[in-house]
Amino acid sequence: MSNRNPRVLGAVLLMAVALVAVLVTPAFMAMREPDLIVPGEGVTDIVMLSKYFPALKGTPADTEVYIMEGAEPGGTTLVLGGTHGNEPGGYMSAILLIENARVEKGRLMVIPFAMKSSFTHSDPGEGAPQRFTITTPGGDRTFKYGSRAVNPVHSWPDPEVYVHYPSGSRLSGEETRNLNRSFPGKATGSFAERVAYGISELIRQENVDLSIDLHEAMPEYPNINVIVAHQNALGLAAMAQVRMMMNGMQIALSPSPVLFRGLTHREWGDHTNTLAVLMEAPNITIGRLRAQTDVASILEGKDPFYEWGARLNRLFVPFDAKGWPLEVRVARHLTGIYQLSEALSMMKPNSAVKIRVPSYADIAQNGIGAYLNSPE
Ligand SMILES: [Zn+2]
Repeated sequence: MSNRNPRVLGAVLLMAVALVAVLVTPAFMAMREPDLIVPGEGVTDIVMLSKYFPALKGTPADTEVYIMEGAEPGGTTLVLGGTHGNEPGGYMSAILLIENARVEKGRLMVIPFAMKSSFTHSDPGEGAPQRFTITTPGGDRTFKYGSRAVNPVHSWPDPEVYVHYPSGSRLSGEETRNLNRSFPGKATGSFAERVAYGISELIRQENVDLSIDLHEAMPEYPNINVIVAHQNALGLAAMAQVRMMMNGMQIALSPSPVLFRGLTHREWGDHTNTLAVLMEAPNITIGRLRAQTDVASILEGKDPFYEWGARLNRLFVPFDAKGWPLEVRVARHLTGIYQLSEALSMMKPNSAVKIRVPSYADIAQNGIGAYLNSPE
């Protein structure tokens, strides 16, 4: 009965744990390697967020800000992707802007990975792949699929209750690591509050006229295929919405709830002078009804259970065998950014940015890869 000896059993278990740790370490460590971005000709400067909040310098909270300045003077627009690392429609739209957009008037600032820490891990129990590959004319490009929240390695432990600063509004403790509950931010606050503070400082110091935060939502969530706008940006968002619908794209408009605190569309509008909006596109891989989560489900957005959910009228977006492919989600976001810019050009020409981006039809037809640069 020597194999029942607790010491032997303990030693065997420890060795098994050590073996598992050795086997999985490379996969965990690889998540810390940043994804390649190949800036297009439109990019005129790259700075770090710590330029606006120096305490972030040299920390995992610091992140790149790509600046695209046009020849003609105008306003400043900020686009945020990667507030949530498991919403690729948001950060791939930001990357496509950096690699492909041209700015004719004013200045476009793009943060592709707003919460960089959320790209260094994935959520346990969700079974999501760590990466997905997109084929471009110059070769394959891989991009990470991260988590909704800050890596616990960077922010731990979570409190029992998260108390939002400065409103005092209370949410569950894990929301401490959610960047989109942490605005306007706090210089001496949590990891997420410090990143939020840096972004709010950028908006103040650069006098950003329009700020757009790109997200994705599960198809069973009511706030989807929508522009959410602070009351200061409702007129602008309504004009953009009408323009999108006239071009055949169904999109809703929702006013930012006054009592729901910490979100970009609420706090940027309350604490800075920017016009604050957020956009949501559908993503099955963060939904609860989905079947298997794999690279195909990230890229193609197809799922038999969501088709079933649509037949039962349980979803807030149409869902059929075509699903919601990544190129359609990116095409929606880029169309939204373009139409918000066009609307601002009509309402406040001095605050506007004139951008050229691939059209909805072009992206939906040719795929994202056609608009990403060669990895060489
Ligand atoms: Zn999100």
